[in-house]
Amino acid sequence: MKRVLLLLLLLGVGVTPPVYAQDLVNGALTALGGAEALAQVKTLVVKGTVRYWEPEQSMVAGGEPRHAADATFEMTGDFTTHAIRVDWVKNFLYPSPRTFQFSEIMTPEAGYVIGIDSNGRNKQNRETNPPGHIMSGLRFTATQRELRRASPALLLEMRNHPGQVSASPGITIGAVSYPALTYQASPYTFIVMFDPQTHLPVRIRTLDYDNIWGDSTYDLTFADWRKLGGVQTATSQNYELNGKVVAEIKITDVSVNAPLPTDRFEIPAALQGTAPKPASGNVPYQWVLRRQFIGTYLDSDNPSFDTRATDGLKLTEVAPGVQHAVGGSHNSLIVELGDALAVFDAPVSDGQSNWTITAAQAKYPGKPIKYLVLTHHHMDHVGGLRAYAAAGATLVVGKGNAEHFRKVLAMPFTRNPDLPSRDLSKTNVVEVADKYTISDGKRQVTAYLAENPHANGMLIGYVADAQLGFVTDLWSPGPAPLPDKITPALAAVVNTVKKAGITPLKFAGGHGATSDYAPLAALAGN
Ligand SMILES: [Zn+2]
Repeated sequence: MKRVLLLLLLLGVGVTPPVYAQDLVNGALTALGGAEALAQVKTLVVKGTVRYWEPEQSMVAGGEPRHAADATFEMTGDFTTHAIRVDWVKNFLYPSPRTFQFSEIMTPEAGYVIGIDSNGRNKQNRETNPPGHIMSGLRFTATQRELRRASPALLLEMRNHPGQVSASPGITIGAVSYPALTYQASPYTFIVMFDPQTHLPVRIRTLDYDNIWGDSTYDLTFADWRKLGGVQTATSQNYELNGKVVAEIKITDVSVNAPLPTDRFEIPAALQGTAPKPASGNVPYQWVLRRQFIGTYLDSDNPSFDTRATDGLKLTEVAPGVQHAVGGSHNSLIVELGDALAVFDAPVSDGQSNWTITAAQAKYPGKPIKYLVLTHHHMDHVGGLRAYAAAGATLVVGKGNAEHFRKVLAMPFTRNPDLPSRDLSKTNVVEVADKYTISDGKRQVTAYLAENPHANGMLIGYVADAQLGFVTDLWSPGPAPLPDKITPALAAVVNTVKKAGITPLKFAGGHGATSDYAPLAALAGN
């Protein structure tokens, strides 16, 4: 071992003089106006706008990312108490047009949401008047990471903790090779890249796990530097997932050391109480952050269900030999065959899939899951596909989607918290051009391609002997009443049923529960 190290030293490989790291930090601090000036910043008010995109809620798998929301924000930070408040107005375009106006308050111990910020409101938010809730430990840890990544104080931290800063191999993006440092800011690890010309920080990277693309890079980029409120500010900041822009931030206004109203960081009485512990270990950062980008995040310490409202996931028998995996925000359907099982949808994460697979195996011992039918490619309904592929299941996907899923399954996933890394590139993927039937000689389980406004290659499931359908996102069967008028999404369900010539009595949903089909058919005028 010693000899290897000596050889590396002689070759000068992988070893950089410690002074190099601090040169980069000091060069950046100078370019930012000097460490002294930055250290004088006690309060900061930043105003700007954000546009959000979600690549894995696209119309076409692997196609143009979905433009999800446009927002304005005003962020107030107190560097003495480390309290931060962000007032948001978010105008969402997807999954439905709506506006959420709310505030987030972060202290070093806990995070708070004042107002409504999601369609997936947790129990505390629904039961508090006016609405609000204490952030889950997952959201607290993820939010703190992003505040820290974006903070002008990050470089001061790096200067003050040289033992946590180490040289990293240069990173080439486009035609430029950027010198880089790794900063261990426990529990976070940031890779900070510097502009070789201006010495300014240009990009701060974390290595994340994405439930679709596996091992992923998540970067905050800095550009268009201008002096605002007396401090050098990157007025254009983008978040990039694997090089694709998912959030575009424009900073329009900065004021430094303005006196702050005393009630700026006041927590409403209804929200005072014991906050969840900050999450440690594996935090599904991409899930926690990007579900907020589309306004559907369920703020809970289990990504699959509201820990404050339910004991967890459970199986509900919806027909003989058919189990609906419910209890969370997203459901699967398990169908028993003679000597095997077929499952519809693999929502959220391999953590949820592990639960569903274990429950299915306990219910139907000795019957392997031979088929995983994916209704559509959106990340919230397929993010747990790897656990099924690892169990040997054949993937059944809609027209035009096979190539996308083969690419997804070929990606490495060493950072997946729920599944050990392995080669899934040989997984069998079947594409449904019109319909595809799985049969054991008695039971027939069919996936029908649905013309629809939500996602290309959408499938609707049908268990013929049970006269039971399975539908995701076009309709969420359950206690929620049908609208007064048919929508294009609901019409797509009815049209697919008609075209297929099937006669469902009930539908189970990828969201919600089960409902009779007749009222929907009646609404469509059938
Ligand atoms: Zn969807």
